[in-house]
Amino acid sequence: MNKLGVHALVWVGGWSHDECERAIAQTAELGFDLIEIPALDPSSIDAVFTRKMLDRYKLGTTLSLGLDASTDISSADPDTQARGEARLMQVLSVARDIGATHVCGILYSALQKYFEPPTDAGIAGSIAVLRRVGESAARHGITIGLEVVNRYESNVLNTAAQAVAFARRVGLPNVKVHLDTYHMNIEEADLESALIDSGAMLGYFHIGESGRGYLGAGNIDFDRVFRGLAKAGYEGPITFESFSSAVVNKQLSGMLGIWRNLWEDSADLARHAKGFIEHRLKAAREAHARSGFAPSGESFSGR
Ligand code: MN
Repeated sequence: MNKLGVHALVWVGGWSHDECERAIAQTAELGFDLIEIPALDPSSIDAVFTRKMLDRYKLGTTLSLGLDASTDISSADPDTQARGEARLMQVLSVARDIGATHVCGILYSALQKYFEPPTDAGIAGSIAVLRRVGESAARHGITIGLEVVNRYESNVLNTAAQAVAFARRVGLPNVKVHLDTYHMNIEEADLESALIDSGAMLGYFHIGESGRGYLGAGNIDFDRVFRGLAKAGYEGPITFESFSSAVVNKQLSGMLGIWRNLWEDSADLARHAKGFIEHRLKAAREAHARSGFAPSGESFSGR
């Protein structure tokens, strides 16, 4: 079954000991399986303390980040690529130390608006770095999720089809595609078929509404999203992402353009999201199981 998670920024803007314990305790209290911790600055995470809290509250974890202009591995500049590789390796060691199962996000380029398309050399460089990072991740049992984002946040991977082709070029079983409904809603022609076509390459999933607030309070057709997940036989993590000006991480909130207040009550938001995801997923699986398709997990060979 899918493990359900919540992004730490639903609870806290930083990762002091107090914020770490509060976010982990509240996530566990609502019955989630994991918390996704932003690792833009991996040195800000006290790994020993974080692991202690995860153990205390019996919670799993994943890490996410976007690279920046100075660590952009899709850059043609070898020094920038080298800094990016070092950053990703540093994140992997934090992931290993806290027992994270996945490292995901915009790991293949900077998280920024680009004003030019990527170059073939830049893409090849990004793939070469990710192959080394992926091999290192595999030694710690960590899966890498390449998050597909909208055109205003990267110029490399904007659609599921691009990400599947890119991940195949990396060519490692633990380097997977990470899709996010917020971004898919902007770039995909059809959310359900994008999920089905990603199939076994899908390794991580973000659920977010079009305005990034309460699920159901925007324009995303979640029935098609959950049917797509059921038909794809997806069994990996599903993490709820939501951002409001009520909880601010200066760096991340600024990059994502979180200017509006969409909610105040983190616990109510997260509780609602958990029920929403569980109910829709259950309904989609029931519909799929009775539709004449093979049951989930048997629809694609090689899984
Ligand atoms: Mn996301």
